[in-house]
Amino acid sequence: MRRNAHAKIIKQMNIGTLLKHIRAQGPISRAELVKTTKLSPTTVSVLVEELLQEGLVAEIGTGESSGGRRPILLEFQPTSRLAIGVDIGVQKTTVALLDLDGNSLITNSYTPDLSNKQVFLQDIVDYTQQILHASKNLEHNILGIGVATPGLLDRDQKNILYSSSLGFTDVPLYDALEQNFSLPIRIDNDMNAAALGEKLMGAGQKISDLIYVSVETGIGAGIIIDNRIYSGASGSAGEFGHTTVEPAGAPCKCGNRGCLGVMAAEPAILSRAIQMLAIGAKTKISTYHKGSPAQITLEPIVLAAKDGDPVALSITNDCLDYLAIGVANLINMFDPAAVILGGSTMEALHPLGLERVRQSVRQRVLPFHGQRTYTIIPSQLKDRVKIVGASTLVFSEFLDYVDVLTTEEDRDRVDDYRIVD
Ligand SMILES: [Zn+2]
Repeated sequence: MRRNAHAKIIKQMNIGTLLKHIRAQGPISRAELVKTTKLSPTTVSVLVEELLQEGLVAEIGTGESSGGRRPILLEFQPTSRLAIGVDIGVQKTTVALLDLDGNSLITNSYTPDLSNKQVFLQDIVDYTQQILHASKNLEHNILGIGVATPGLLDRDQKNILYSSSLGFTDVPLYDALEQNFSLPIRIDNDMNAAALGEKLMGAGQKISDLIYVSVETGIGAGIIIDNRIYSGASGSAGEFGHTTVEPAGAPCKCGNRGCLGVMAAEPAILSRAIQMLAIGAKTKISTYHKGSPAQITLEPIVLAAKDGDPVALSITNDCLDYLAIGVANLINMFDPAAVILGGSTMEALHPLGLERVRQSVRQRVLPFHGQRTYTIIPSQLKDRVKIVGASTLVFSEFLDYVDVLTTEEDRDRVDDYRIVD
């Protein structure tokens, strides 16, 4: 029994190893795979056959001969498995068909109706239906529907219990989809989905422990521990935006004061700029923004800050320093290998924002952490992070099956059990 279990794990690991190599280095021949994976020729031959049958790889012609027959080349087939991703946003909701490389093959976006829960749900169903219809001959490759939504979910991850940004409580999201589609459905908080997206298809590949932090109109985080989303005991971990960073700070919607989201997200930057403009401060912001102070947007502030304007820099740096307090706390608490900074505000402030946070965090983490190899890196998936993340809610189980999630370190640990033939 134990032996069978081991054999199964080893087979999965070897399949995962092959798939990773074909995906990263393909088109590649079986002989080259033997060389790079150090698996035996028989193992490679048997398992490649399985990957061919599964449609995950394809033979795509022949390569250069190094003496004998010209070798047949193998290539990863990202469209062999697909997922429908739903990214529920307040301004824009996106439904897309995505492949195993995170590419959107078909995309549709709309402005959600937040005045009526039934209409809100029906729109999600209708747009998903449209994508399914448009998938045509690819439909049988679809593994499921993954939904990334703002707000708190119930323990079963079926209903949205509460979302302040959507303005809804008790939204039966799972049931609405389940009644209309026979595909598996996975729902998670958008920050968790984003973290998983970066982990599987973005900046966090090969990293087992990471935290994704998003800065936009609010601040949120998704935590990945040991390759898995960490949801907490009641499913609400990652409410990073409501950690207190200034006891006497401005009031937050949650009823508290000085929450990170209030002190460091985009509205905080804007309101500081409005104050400075209102008192007639001499700043380049006014060169880039001619209208009334109340109409200010992020762009002129960022442009002035990038010009080195001291007022603009003090506004952005003050907010980024609050963010850094939060990030340093995360690093001290979780010891992640990477913190990935994303969201439209961080995007607009790049690279100035990333540098400031790195510098400010360096001063705050424990000296021990200072010598560690944590990195603070920008999001790779950028504005696609939530839709790709939604698809990975579905893909992760499949990628798990082919063991793409296992890191090299895990692999070394069980190296003794490898098939040798
Ligand atoms: Zn709060």
